[in-house]
Amino acid sequence: MIRHESGRGGMVDTRDLKSLAGNRCASSSLAVRTRNSRVLRDSYGRQVTYVRVSVTDRCDLRCVYCMKERMVFLPKKDLLTFEELERLCSLFVEMGVRKLRMTGGEPLVRRGVMDFLRRLSVHKGVELVMTTNGTRLAEYAEGLRACGVERINVSLDSLDEAMYRQVTRGGDMGRVLAGMEKAAGLGIKIKVNVVALRGVNEHALMDMVYWCAERGYDMTMIEVMPMGEMPMCREQQFVSLQGVQAQMAREFEMEVAAKQGCSSGPARRYFVPSLGIHVGFITPLSAHFCEGCNRVRLTCVGQLYTCLGHEGSCDMRALLRSGADDGVVRDALRRALWSKPQGHDFASFMNVRSGAVSRHMSVTGG
Ligand code: SAM
Ligand code: SF4
Repeated sequence: MIRHESGRGGMVDTRDLKSLAGNRCASSSLAVRTRNSRVLRDSYGRQVTYVRVSVTDRCDLRCVYCMKERMVFLPKKDLLTFEELERLCSLFVEMGVRKLRMTGGEPLVRRGVMDFLRRLSVHKGVELVMTTNGTRLAEYAEGLRACGVERINVSLDSLDEAMYRQVTRGGDMGRVLAGMEKAAGLGIKIKVNVVALRGVNEHALMDMVYWCAERGYDMTMIEVMPMGEMPMCREQQFVSLQGVQAQMAREFEMEVAAKQGCSSGPARRYFVPSLGIHVGFITPLSAHFCEGCNRVRLTCVGQLYTCLGHEGSCDMRALLRSGADDGVVRDALRRALWSKPQGHDFASFMNVRSGAVSRHMSVTGG
């Protein structure tokens, strides 16, 4: 059974959306106000409070749904330097961003990432989080805690060692589990990210929920998205999460989770009292929630993507390297946000090998 908390549930600024619905350009004064706003707001009235920062496109794993077996990575000289990343992050914070997620590729493989995090940790009231594959977590957990990282997402698509090795093309699950234990022992709250995959974990998802509950880890299940060209059609990997969600609603009382800081965005999160954990569903294919999207993504080469499912981006690296001052960079961020699309169209790209967008998730930063 699903119970809804009272209130807005933290998703959309409905007042703004209503005023903009139908003819979003009808009110030019509103348009001007939004474009000049000190916070980052798009033309649909959504405020961006959350930035995902990909610090590298490299990774020590090759998950079958994320990368090709043989990947050509970007030349290191093309990456934004940590100074450039820090400058952009600080401007985002000035403009109302309250959550910065380090991701990749695998963020913990870039040398110097911990110093970068330490420098970002000076921003008070900003939540610093990370998505990691966990292979180096045992080594870095203490450093993360020292930088004020209180919550991390760890990707783990199977609890079966052989299957994990197959999905990640060679990963060692034992190392990941040890890293998670170390981090949890230091008080870092863990959320396990599981991409639902046909023939891999579709029948094991409920077992994974129980496994997470036993350890006090939250869990988010994710539908596979058509990002980047793959050797097969995405349909061959896809599992809809609607069935799992319905099964959970039959078996457990589930409370729609209150807004967690500013992070709810396009996921559905529930608290399951009998298990004591939150369980989330990211269902961009079977039921998308673009209307609540509060995030943008900065790639490791400085492309700012305002939607995961669109090609349109803004080249922040060129701007930074042209010597632009902060005012010019702020204006560029506002303009980029103004053109944030209303939503993605992943569904049309499930039966083709090319993705909805040409880049893999590891480039955009998942
Ligand atoms: N390497 C880190 C990790 O695996 O957690 C961070 C980067 S990874 C790209 C971020 C998240 O994106 C992971 O949870 C991963 O499972 C997810 N992901 C990657 N490719 C995906 C795809 N095509 N569809 C859905 N999720 C994907
Ligand atoms: Fe690497 Fe994460 Fe992509 Fe897996 S999902 S290949 S761990 S970047």
